[in-house]
Amino acid sequence: MSDRPSIGFIGLGIMGLPMARNLLKAGYSVSVYNRSPEKVKTLQLEGATTAPTVSGIARAVDVVITMLPDTPDVEAVVLGSDGIAVGIKSGATFIDMSTIDPAMSRRIAKELGSKGVHVIDAPVSGGEKGAIEATLSIMCGGEQSAFDAIFPILQTLGKNITLVGDAGAGQLTKACNQLIVAINIEGVAEALALAAASGVDPAKVRAALMGGFASSRILEVHGERMLNENFVPGFKAKLHKKDLEIVIAAEKAAKLTLPAAELMRARMTELAARDPEIDHSGLRTLLAPAG
Ligand code: NAP
Repeated sequence: MSDRPSIGFIGLGIMGLPMARNLLKAGYSVSVYNRSPEKVKTLQLEGATTAPTVSGIARAVDVVITMLPDTPDVEAVVLGSDGIAVGIKSGATFIDMSTIDPAMSRRIAKELGSKGVHVIDAPVSGGEKGAIEATLSIMCGGEQSAFDAIFPILQTLGKNITLVGDAGAGQLTKACNQLIVAINIEGVAEALALAAASGVDPAKVRAALMGGFASSRILEVHGERMLNENFVPGFKAKLHKKDLEIVIAAEKAAKLTLPAAELMRARMTELAARDPEIDHSGLRTLLAPAG
């Protein structure tokens, strides 16, 4: 791969659009594709090229990146008729940055690997802000040599970039991340609900806890959201529900019982059924009123 590989970027949503933009800004040649065409036009004005099909994009570039919502979307775009697998060249690299089931990442690594394609699963944490500011944490699975080759591309998108293990290890790491975040949100929500219902000011409780062992980014950011009852989505409940389904699938595959994971899947399912678009910190709304 030359110093400046050409890149195909598929999926220009909340995360994908700013990520593709950062690659363009860094001087990469980027060809973009999205289901609805308006976002493609936005990036064409900023120097991106495009092609009419996913396979056409894949055929023309050295590295293909996807940033799609869910496991079936990635399966369709990679392995479907006229998908990435149809066009991608032997020796090219495929990076999936979506959050999906690790089992699908392993299947894709196997199928594309048999065509001589290098595959890295590289889901991210850090939200829209991290995507815009190129400060995402990126957790990777795949082979060291392939990871090393694409490291400069990932550095254009994020800061804390770790190769965790083989194919699927990045996705498993992301599942762990989403489990910890969900349990932590529930803990903060229940603590603030308990304070309020006990006649103790929850804002002062949050402030008192911020320096101690219970301190966390969730207490800081989502604790504040809960106090302000501001549940405008940064990360939607329906997406966190999807991620907790991935956690439960991994739990079953590992033949483990994870009680809090199962509880949080149920809690997030309840929240997403009530309001799929609400921020995941809206778990607070399932408890007693702020008071
Ligand atoms: P999103 O805003 O829903 O964007 C998904 C994009 O993929 C949309 O532009 C959609 O096109 C496009 N798309 C869907 N199916 C497609 C297909 N078959 N072919 C081509 N394009 C297709 O989602 P997001 O928030 O960017 O999230 C993307 C991934 O990152 C998810 O796995 C999510 O869990 C993960 N993630 C999100 C965040 C966050 O804070 N949002 C943080 C970390 C990780 P349309 O324009 O037609 O809908």
